[in-house]
Amino acid sequence: MSVIYLDYAATTRVCPEAARAALTAMTEEYGNPSSRHALGATAADRLRKNRAIVADRLGCTPEELFFTSCGTEGDNWAIRAAVHFGRHSGKHIITTSVEHAAVLETMKDLAAEGCEVTYLNPDRTGHIRVSDLEAALRPDTVLVSMMLINNETGARFPVEEAAQAIRRAGAPALLHTDAVQAFCKIPFTPTGLGADLVAVSGHKIGAPKGIGALYIKKHLHSRFRPLLFGGGQEAGMRPGTEPTAQIAAFAAACLAYPENTDRIKHIKDYFLDSILAAIPDLEIVSRGDAPHICAVSLPGYPSEMLVRALSDRGICVSSGSACHRGKPSHVFAALGLPKQVLTGTLRISFGPDSTRADADALINALVQIKSERIFVR
Ligand code: PLP
Repeated sequence: MSVIYLDYAATTRVCPEAARAALTAMTEEYGNPSSRHALGATAADRLRKNRAIVADRLGCTPEELFFTSCGTEGDNWAIRAAVHFGRHSGKHIITTSVEHAAVLETMKDLAAEGCEVTYLNPDRTGHIRVSDLEAALRPDTVLVSMMLINNETGARFPVEEAAQAIRRAGAPALLHTDAVQAFCKIPFTPTGLGADLVAVSGHKIGAPKGIGALYIKKHLHSRFRPLLFGGGQEAGMRPGTEPTAQIAAFAAACLAYPENTDRIKHIKDYFLDSILAAIPDLEIVSRGDAPHICAVSLPGYPSEMLVRALSDRGICVSSGSACHRGKPSHVFAALGLPKQVLTGTLRISFGPDSTRADADALINALVQIKSERIFVR
């Protein structure tokens, strides 16, 4: 059975360009970039070029881009190192209650170590109010961590305004943004956002799993705590022999991912308009500011069962972040949805290969499942 994949926010198929680049790195340019012989020099040269490609796509200098193993690693490193960076100014952190687990679990760990964490809640549309951040900022706030695009609602958070609020308040806080769902999907640069730290991940844009990057603003470097200690790779900040195949694939995926994401947005809009016409009692939980993510609910139909019924028909969607593994989504719960709507919420996410036919197939399957009324509560 061919698969209709509408779960691009969870992960993506590796694009052919990335797969080819990884194969070349593994079988031809397989030297260790630190080796002094010709094969090592070739690998080092390729690494330098690939770093420049990823940095260019993110809009920073190559020196400000540090490869990590994933978005989770970038988030963990940024947050812990920022708290260490500000240790003489205070222990207060501000984040949102709807961040990815990579951020929230790190916050929990830091709270257990004595940090005080303030969580900003979203409004009913899933957005964060800058006024709430302004009210929470204190002279001892050392970090604000606010994602750029929420992975379940597609809502865009006011990171630029957060940077301005921190400056206005004169707080010593560094600004970290988890841009895993935003990278290549919406136009932004770290400087444009006013962010000090930006985490991204390769597998959301057609690179394999196991590669990400953290932007660290240049002026922080000399006092920023390395993630690991070892052989000096990544300017000594994240040592370990570079995963040249993953990095090659990441760079190739950056080049292959469309600059213009309007097509993805049009398919999402087509899906939302068509499904409302086909299933009038369906609720749109979030249209998403990002081009690729939206959330809908079939009130009374438990989303886990919908995901399974759709999967049986060859259609992949999500009942929330893939990282929740069956637990109700803290993001949808934070929107204050009525219980019937909350339990029936599905996240649908689109990618460069999505088509109107994919959207139609999902709508038809949901109409069919609904007509069977097997799950209704
Ligand atoms: N942050 C967000 C917003 C995400 O959507 C994800 C992955 O789903 C992550 C962080 C974690 O990224 P990775 O899977 O590369 O660790």
